[in-house]
Amino acid sequence: MKNNTLALFGGQKTIRSEFERYNSIGAEEVEAAKNVIDSGVLSKFLGCWAPDFYGGPKVQEFERQCEAYFKVKHAITVNSWTSGLIAAVGAIGIEPGDEVIVSPWTMCASATAILQWNAIPVFADIDSETFCISIDSIRKNITPFTKAIMVVDIFGQSSDIDAIMELATEHGLKVICDTAQAPGARYKGKFSGTIADIGGFSLNYHKHIHTGEGGILVTNDDALAEKMQLLRNHAEGVVGNKGVDDLTNMIGYNFRLGEIECAIGIEQLKKLQTLIDGRQKAAKRLTEGLLGLTGLQTPKTSENCTHVYYVYGMVLDIDQLGVDRKRIIQALEAEGITGLAAGYVNVHLLPMYQKKIAFGSTGFPWNSDICKRDVNYKKGICPVAEELNDKSFLGFEMCLHNLSELEVDLIIQAFKKVWENLDELK
Ligand SMILES: *Cc1c(COP(=O)(O)O)cnc(C)c1O
Repeated sequence: MKNNTLALFGGQKTIRSEFERYNSIGAEEVEAAKNVIDSGVLSKFLGCWAPDFYGGPKVQEFERQCEAYFKVKHAITVNSWTSGLIAAVGAIGIEPGDEVIVSPWTMCASATAILQWNAIPVFADIDSETFCISIDSIRKNITPFTKAIMVVDIFGQSSDIDAIMELATEHGLKVICDTAQAPGARYKGKFSGTIADIGGFSLNYHKHIHTGEGGILVTNDDALAEKMQLLRNHAEGVVGNKGVDDLTNMIGYNFRLGEIECAIGIEQLKKLQTLIDGRQKAAKRLTEGLLGLTGLQTPKTSENCTHVYYVYGMVLDIDQLGVDRKRIIQALEAEGITGLAAGYVNVHLLPMYQKKIAFGSTGFPWNSDICKRDVNYKKGICPVAEELNDKSFLGFEMCLHNLSELEVDLIIQAFKKVWENLDELK
């Protein structure tokens, strides 16, 4: 057997011991959580117009620290970023049947948050290099019924947000930014998520920093902040005593995050930049090492942006390589690489949109009078996202590990070995 025989064909694996999953929860978080438990006050929220409407001391401390960190006027904690997205869509004053343009290359909740208000998601295509929503496709999808744009700063870098804000202003649209995967990323020096009308971050276990479950909404708009605080905490029971006259979408929820999570969040926020630095360093080394492999496009960072590498997104030139993606992944995995993903999500192709069955069984809201036209979700509406998902996108979940230089070098070695043996995979 030659000495670089692929592990897939019985050769020696490049990576022989599994990389450790990163764990950002340390003694600081344990101490912070313990202090809350010792206090006996695990949540202080009250669902009525009283000082505790805004939550307890750790909720408020975490929110003030997020405001200072992300340089925004308002940070509002929520029990998940999915909850945050629902509050955001409600707060912009969406009406049933309004259309919201959204990226299909995202976690399903970005679009579901729109449907939760009986509004209609309209999917625009993505940019093939950044995987964020394409401004040209947004433009083509604007109709007289469009009310807002939901952009997603996918994998860790900002969408083309200045251009999108300009287009939105021109058409009188609101912009919500799903920055779940990009806390700490920058656009022209500002933090991703803070330029749109509303943005925010997920704090679930899989994200850069986490509190188990949780989310943070950010906005510079006082009125939107108030609406989101109300939606988080039983709006309909609070508006009367708070003296809120505009009852638009004041159907509240319990989206409150607890004191323990916020105490942990305070410690996690202090670690965010260090975690980002580590991922940026690893990504830089990986990109330098993979440079020169034919038919492999490494992540592109847009001008004016920094990338925080939640996912390290690559594109394979399948025609040039002459090997399909599945075979390449098999070979890479056999060499010991974990966290590879063939494609990402095409939300528009989920059964809910293909069958247009959401609320109840008969097709509401699409089959009702509130839906003003026949919105198309058929395969073919987002050719770039579909091609990437079906054929050419190769993701590497950077967020699973805090990769050392040695580990990055092993990954590079594994890629090189597979690329040297491509002919055998045909
Ligand atoms: C994780 C994620 C969400 C959902 O966040 P949760 O906190 O899990 O509810 C939404 N959008 C994107 C892009 C995500 O990555």
